[in-house]
Amino acid sequence: MTFLERTTDPRRLRHWEGTLEADYIYTSGLAGERFFVALRDEGRILAARCPTCDLSYLPPRPFCERCFSELAAYVDVPTTGRVVAVTIAHVDARGRSLPAPEPWAFVRFRGVHGGLVHRLLVPADRARPGMRVRVRLRPREARTGAVTDMEGFEPATS
Ligand SMILES: [Zn+2]
Repeated sequence: MTFLERTTDPRRLRHWEGTLEADYIYTSGLAGERFFVALRDEGRILAARCPTCDLSYLPPRPFCERCFSELAAYVDVPTTGRVVAVTIAHVDARGRSLPAPEPWAFVRFRGVHGGLVHRLLVPADRARPGMRVRVRLRPREARTGAVTDMEGFEPATS
């Protein structure tokens, strides 16, 4: 088509029918791999530490977002965290109705920048911001090095 021709059907420019294959591999990166290996093999939740800024990042990242230093040190996050936000899921990732409402939480840990999102292992009507929680892990032999190695957050009793 040249500039002298006019388009009267915008679908000719923005639309085509057919299928497009989109296979890809998404890696977790250096810091992510360190996080998932420690989670799988040792049941540890690691944060990347910047000694210059006195900051720990969760999830870990390879560079400090404040001073741009490469982060090579990792520290364990505290065993308990605090729920700062809750949502209740009624459908799964494919849009199918769940048998029961499923609470999810964003949890922060003292002294750590960032946090984790995962299932909150309480009935939906008990899910509240402010809850003190800890990670419940799958048994060592069931872990695969994925976020699903965590079953979710359960109330911390002590
Ligand atoms: Zn820094």
